[in-house]
Amino acid sequence: MDHRFVIDVHEVPTHEGSWVFPIPQEWGRGAFEGCEVEALEEPGELEVRVTKTGEGYLVEGRVRLTVAATCVRCLQPVPLEIDAPIAALYVPGPAGEPAGAGDDEAGEDEEPRPDDGPEVEHFQDHRLVLDSYVRDTVLLEVPMNPRCAVECRLPERPRGAS
Ligand SMILES: [Zn+2]
Repeated sequence: MDHRFVIDVHEVPTHEGSWVFPIPQEWGRGAFEGCEVEALEEPGELEVRVTKTGEGYLVEGRVRLTVAATCVRCLQPVPLEIDAPIAALYVPGPAGEPAGAGDDEAGEDEEPRPDDGPEVEHFQDHRLVLDSYVRDTVLLEVPMNPRCAVECRLPERPRGAS
């Protein structure tokens, strides 16, 4: 696994630090393999602040990049500019496990988490690995049925007013 957006918590200053990662096209090719979204059309940027909170680290910022989805009407690639907020709380724990699995707090059913409050992710070995969270954040921003912004060159119905 090739992780590109990794923060060593030892580099987090006592209270707060910030990082800017370029998002190269090849990251998108791997991350979005098998998704409806295609590789990035151009490099993007991930910008985060990290704040230590107790044992965890709060990662906040934005991800900006352009991906290519497919228009549901004309099947042409549609560039989508993604500009999404990042808010995740990284707590120590086994990597790879979905956050909340084995959680003995209340709420055992898999309800969607409330909108307020950051997503909880796990980290190990002093490394905050943001890749999968960034990928999921981007995919959530992609509309279910992407369409060309305004003009869609479908075989059009005649448009005259009659
Ligand atoms: Zn279209």
